[in-house]
Amino acid sequence: MKARYDVVIAGARCAGASTAMLLARQGLQVLVVDPTSRGSDTLSTHALMRGGVLQLHRWGVLHAIQAAETPAISRTTFHYGDEVIEVSIKEQDGVGALYAPRRTVIDSVLVDSALAAGATVVHGHSVVDLLRAADGRIRGAKIAGADKKVIDVAADLVIGADGVRSRVARILQAEIQYTVAHTTASIYGYWKDLGWEGFHWLYNVGGAVGSIPTNAGDTCVFASLPPTRFEKERRDGLDTLYHAVLSEVSPDLARSVNESELSGKLRAFAGTPGFLRCSAGPGWALVGDAGYFRDPITAHGITDALRDAELLARAVTEGDDSALAGYQETRDDLVKGLLDVTDHIASFEWDLDEAKEDHLVLSREMNAEVDLLRTLDQQFVAPPAVNPATR
Ligand SMILES: Cc1cc2nc3c(=O)[nH]c(=O)nc-3n(C[C@H](O)[C@H](O)[C@H](O)COP(=O)(O)OP(=O)(O)OC[C@H]3O[C@@H](n4cnc5c(N)ncnc54)[C@H](O)[C@@H]3O)c2cc1C
Repeated sequence: MKARYDVVIAGARCAGASTAMLLARQGLQVLVVDPTSRGSDTLSTHALMRGGVLQLHRWGVLHAIQAAETPAISRTTFHYGDEVIEVSIKEQDGVGALYAPRRTVIDSVLVDSALAAGATVVHGHSVVDLLRAADGRIRGAKIAGADKKVIDVAADLVIGADGVRSRVARILQAEIQYTVAHTTASIYGYWKDLGWEGFHWLYNVGGAVGSIPTNAGDTCVFASLPPTRFEKERRDGLDTLYHAVLSEVSPDLARSVNESELSGKLRAFAGTPGFLRCSAGPGWALVGDAGYFRDPITAHGITDALRDAELLARAVTEGDDSALAGYQETRDDLVKGLLDVTDHIASFEWDLDEAKEDHLVLSREMNAEVDLLRTLDQQFVAPPAVNPATR
């Protein structure tokens, strides 16, 4: 680590690593730190929506996700009780499939791309405090490794991409400007050779489950439920609760899971209500879950992070505080509708017709997101040219 960078970023996963990659491609000196180890997993399923895949494609990194043998998803199927609606993924803007790379895969690909673009990425280190000028402007960060030795790193901008419990946001006392009422709990696990192709999202009154094919022949199967039920029934064992929700929502999926072998352990998320937080100020910005969180039931947080990484990177290269404020405005305009419809789905206060209606609204909101991404010029995100001599 040097004593000074243009930009210091806390967090080296989908939001932080992709912001670093884009800024480094613009020639900025970027430092990214993260306390976890490189290529580690995190608590998250990982279905990408079209906007997320489009970003990876536009940035020239989708091929690395494909090279990791991430299955291409050509169909997504919604089940409302016994009613089944299949949607084929159409080729558009160079994207002809969806993907659900494990976080060990996508986060590593983005870190590698940030490194290739010239960013410095240091794992095993955290931002523990911020440096301020006399006028209050953020002027850098205090960074510590496992040995707790703290070093000061100066920067024109510090970005918090440090997740839903963002320490950077806490230090800045960045105000939460909008919250929603509901959250879901979820339990998920990876099953070997499940035999369910494509994404499946299954709804029944009081619960939602789904199957997401991913790397190494595994399929992630999740069960979402109200947090009150999760708290009450988890005492009887996560495994029992998981299988109970699966059987109630989809006896077919429950049967396939029972005939399959669990790879690793079940993992659980107790729930966190969504929020929009003030995400830009003098010398600082927030991106990804640090600035905006929405319930995982709509499987969109990574797509959000990949979209906002570029919106933020563009604002940073404009170089003034009003561009950063514009970043937040654009994000908020785009996500309010997504946050609200996600909140209604997360409430479980719907019948199957209403759930269907919510998904139509969600689809319209996601189309608006893709439309915006399409208007962004390609020049900004172009990967460095490959030297044919080193190919
Ligand atoms: C159960 C569950 C299921 C989900 N399923 C999906 C899904 O299917 N599809 C989808 O798109 N999204 C899903 N999400 C949402 C998705 O996980 C998040 O939106 C996404 O991880 C946000 O990325 P991020 O980079 O902002 O934050 P994170 O992935 O949380 O990364 C933040 C990083 O910051 C680091 N950090 C923390 N503190 C510091 C510090 N002080 N200094 C430096 N670094 C720090 C952390 O170690 C971490 O590595 C799910 C979430 C959950 C909880």
